[in-house]
Amino acid sequence: MKKRICLLAGDGIGPEILTQGVAAIAAAAREYGHELTFEHALIGGTAVDNCSNPLPPETVEKCRMADAVYLAAVGGPKWDAFPPELRPEKGLLGIRKALGLFANLRPAVLWPELAGACLLRGQTADKGIDLLVVRELTGDVYFGQPRGEERRDGRRTAFNTMIYDEDEIRRIAVTAFDAARLRRKKVCSVDKSNVLETSRLWREIVTDVHAGYNDVKLTHMYVDNAAMQLVRDPSQFDVLVTGNLFGDILSDEAAAITGSLGMLASASLGSSGPGLFEPIHGSAPDLAGTGAANPLATILSGAMLLRIGLNMPEAADCLEAAVRKTLAAGLRTRDIMEPGNTLVGCAEMGQAVVENIKKANKN
Ligand code: NAD
Repeated sequence: MKKRICLLAGDGIGPEILTQGVAAIAAAAREYGHELTFEHALIGGTAVDNCSNPLPPETVEKCRMADAVYLAAVGGPKWDAFPPELRPEKGLLGIRKALGLFANLRPAVLWPELAGACLLRGQTADKGIDLLVVRELTGDVYFGQPRGEERRDGRRTAFNTMIYDEDEIRRIAVTAFDAARLRRKKVCSVDKSNVLETSRLWREIVTDVHAGYNDVKLTHMYVDNAAMQLVRDPSQFDVLVTGNLFGDILSDEAAAITGSLGMLASASLGSSGPGLFEPIHGSAPDLAGTGAANPLATILSGAMLLRIGLNMPEAADCLEAAVRKTLAAGLRTRDIMEPGNTLVGCAEMGQAVVENIKKANKN
């Protein structure tokens, strides 16, 4: 297969980590006879500096023409005081909207080699964490109308609207069930249907969609319980599907308990067109230019790009196995360093992964 990738390096550590990600996905794709071509486009603060727009129209066009979009991170103190329309984050929200990306997939995995970083008790961590949060990304209280602030009975009053229609729920449920079929075939739908009408419709529609997925087990859980269960026993979860607000919080919680921000990948998908693949961390301005950033979240986002974005599952498996092998050999960037390991920088870590990819099919 020949596929085109649009690269959005962004700001801070973005260019350094994306360089390693590109080398890794190109190497893994090549091992399986695929050819990837790459084209860069501007986003975030760098785009503001170059053309006074955090999301120039050429960037949107290049992304639309690509088979997948590979993003590093945007933002930094340099642009913090800029007006809202010139903030780097505007570029990020803008590209998600322009590509119609309604589903955010965030795996939270506790790599056995990094078990020491897990924030949970040893006996809980020993059971392992390997779950996927599927968060609806374009609806809910974040976008619902009416919203605003006004005076009511002489008091300042602010309001937002929690709203979902059945089509929005149906398409995210389909994404979750499809994802579960590629995993351990369990979906837990998270809502607050004891209190919210939105959640009652959510539960009804998810149950309805489940009728077409008899091979997948569906359970429902209230969001307050889900937040507790995630720290009590995350090993019970395979795929969690939920709305934008609950998903925002639960996906951060799921990510945080693994303890390694520099390891966590994500994918944002629409119903057609290219998906966007990016690490969940930001642009780490404190590390920019030091060569110390961990490229593995970006590299693992690259594995999602290969598997979900380009339908190259063998290349994705090979890339993930190479990451595991690199960690097993004791290589660590500063953020995941523990006594007894070998400290490496961003480029060395990336090169080690590429070497392990090249060795994979020769053993
Ligand atoms: P951050 O994720 O950039 O950094 C938080 C901490 O984690 C820092 O100590 C940083 O050094 C460390 N860290 C992050 N990524 C790392 C990596 N790959 N390797 C090693 N250590 C890593 O979050 P922040 O400091 O709150 O935000 C910095 C900038 O990034 C802000 O401008 C923010 O708006 C932006 N941001 C962007 C995104 C995105 O592009 N998706 C997400 C979050 C934050």
